[in-house]
Amino acid sequence: MIPYGHQDISEDDINAVVEVLRSDFITQGPVVPAFEGAVANYCGCQHAVATNSATAALHLACLALDVGPGDCVWTSPITFVASANAALYCGARVDFVDIDPRTYNLSPDRLEEKLRQADIAGALPKVIIPVHLAGQSCDMAPIKRLADRYGVRLIEDASHAIGGRYHGDPVGSCKFSDIAVFSFHPVKIVTTGEGGIATTNDPGLAERLRLDRSHGITRDSALMQSTSHGPWYYEQVRLGFNYRMTDIAAALGRSQLARLNELVDRRHEIAAAYDEAFAGLPLTVPWRQPETRSSFHLYIVRLDLARIRRSHRAIFESLRAKGIGVNLHYIPVYKQPWYRDLGFPEAYCPEAEAYYGDAISLPIFPGLTKAEQQRVIDVLSREVAA
Ligand SMILES: *Cc1c(COP(=O)(O)O)cnc(C)c1O
Repeated sequence: MIPYGHQDISEDDINAVVEVLRSDFITQGPVVPAFEGAVANYCGCQHAVATNSATAALHLACLALDVGPGDCVWTSPITFVASANAALYCGARVDFVDIDPRTYNLSPDRLEEKLRQADIAGALPKVIIPVHLAGQSCDMAPIKRLADRYGVRLIEDASHAIGGRYHGDPVGSCKFSDIAVFSFHPVKIVTTGEGGIATTNDPGLAERLRLDRSHGITRDSALMQSTSHGPWYYEQVRLGFNYRMTDIAAALGRSQLARLNELVDRRHEIAAAYDEAFAGLPLTVPWRQPETRSSFHLYIVRLDLARIRRSHRAIFESLRAKGIGVNLHYIPVYKQPWYRDLGFPEAYCPEAEAYYGDAISLPIFPGLTKAEQQRVIDVLSREVAA
């Protein structure tokens, strides 16, 4: 089976990890801060706080923005469940803003409409979490304008999007948000095994992210409530978690980051070859948002089922049976039983429903060979031929 995604591990990556294993610190040593510095530097932001997953970073980000019981957080329905769960962990409610039919990202137009209504009803969200689906940034400028107008804070779920750009700046620069979060799960652009990171330009938010990452414990006397009892002294000043990244993981991430541009360039080559091969077929290739460079975490096509005259499921199953490891990103979150039980109706967001009815993610990862890609193209072309 040709998978839809796969990590790309070099000999340098392996050596970087082994070096940490032979060193004095396999966690909480010098490599995590070095990796954080490298990510901050790449993104052009002030602070980066590494965690053991993007889910943990999203949770910390919500806490840093004081999301709690009585608050509401809005996100996209076409995302991994973690984007929404982070708000539920804080005791907040979640709601969904429908997607744009061309980018499949949270629609700024739907957002404007929903904010206007929520304002009238006195039910504005505290935080919005736009998700950069497939690695293509949401249109953050209008989203930021709306957030500022209504006093809402923004967390970018950039899990897919490290190495992407928006208006010339790297995703994660936080020019249009309070905090951005990347995932380093092995299917994402760069990996640390499990891992994530939050970037921000706000020193207060960075401090909260750091505190809550490690039990709410501080050794900084400026943050303590009492005077030090001695050199052993530390204080727990908040109820935090153990969401720390290890030095082992950070070494892998730092080594991978050095190849980030190369990895994204390779993904663009694959995407361009798909675009060319699929021209004229009854399917829609990924839209390229102007002034945006995707990281191409995913290559998502929409099948024109009216012309193909076969079902989405039949084509999906047939591709899998022929060794093409296609996937579907994602089931609209409100359809999950946990969310249904919170009261969301079956077909809550029409554009997300339409997307779910005809989208397919094709294999895209740096190690995909030309022969493998040709096989994907040949098989899919035959499947959709009328
Ligand atoms: C992968 C992913 C996450 C969660 O990342 P983890 O590092 O696995 O916790 C969150 N949001 C989106 C959109 C993702 O794709």
